[in-house]
Amino acid sequence: MHTARKPSFTPLLLLLLASLCSAGRTATAAPDLEVEQSSSMQGEFFVATVSGTPTAPSLWFDGTSYAMFPQDNGSYRTLVPVEALLKPGTYAILARHGEWQEKIPVRVIEDPHPVQEVWLDRKTSGLRATREEKMLVKEALQTISSEKLWNGRFSRPARGRISSPFGVKRSYNGAPISSYHKGIDIAAPLDTPIYSPADGKVILTGYAEDLFHIHGNSVILDHGHGLVSVYLHLNSISVKPDDIVARGDLIGYMGSTGISTGSHLHWGTYLYGTSVNPLLFEERAY
Ligand SMILES: [Zn+2]
Repeated sequence: MHTARKPSFTPLLLLLLASLCSAGRTATAAPDLEVEQSSSMQGEFFVATVSGTPTAPSLWFDGTSYAMFPQDNGSYRTLVPVEALLKPGTYAILARHGEWQEKIPVRVIEDPHPVQEVWLDRKTSGLRATREEKMLVKEALQTISSEKLWNGRFSRPARGRISSPFGVKRSYNGAPISSYHKGIDIAAPLDTPIYSPADGKVILTGYAEDLFHIHGNSVILDHGHGLVSVYLHLNSISVKPDDIVARGDLIGYMGSTGISTGSHLHWGTYLYGTSVNPLLFEERAY
């Protein structure tokens, strides 16, 4: 018991005091929310960063909360998706941690893509995704994993011509706009190879002959931090669930399985289950 009063323990005590003081300093530094863009188009995203909080803050946009992930410099970051059919106008991004909160106004701008009228015959308009297909895809798209697997820019997963851009709003058989194109279509000959555009993990493979009547042969990759990418209508698949893929690894070959009118790849990227334009990940490293 007496040993506790020995002078040799003083340096330890000082160290402890010093660490308490420095902890006190970081805790009193005011947290700060930063949003890179003051406006974003439908189908794009905001980059929100919070610094100065000891643990992850909560982040809100349009009534939805988003997980924030720690960065190397101690701040927390999220890519906040803007749904392609979200009404243009003024919104806010709100961050909260304990007593602190900060709100930054942001604008959502309309995507100028024209509306595409799609006329389906009775047979095609009657085709529906199986319940299992819908459920499996939805679940995979909402994957949020805490490890960031991708680094740098995405590369284009296949050679070919972009036959349909992202975000084209669609009206079926004259009805009001009910959906939009949740990816880009790359058209090329049957069996054109498809490569992973970034490092990731295979979280789903689906087969047309089994359950995937609409999407056809499908691959879904998780890139971490809420970013997921999809590859549809493949002729054949070269990977299996839980495979780790690097940028440039073969994942399958182009085809026309599921609802498709010719050989093409439908490539989509999702943030927290919301479809965003995949070309954004080619333009810049996030
Ligand atoms: Zn498509």
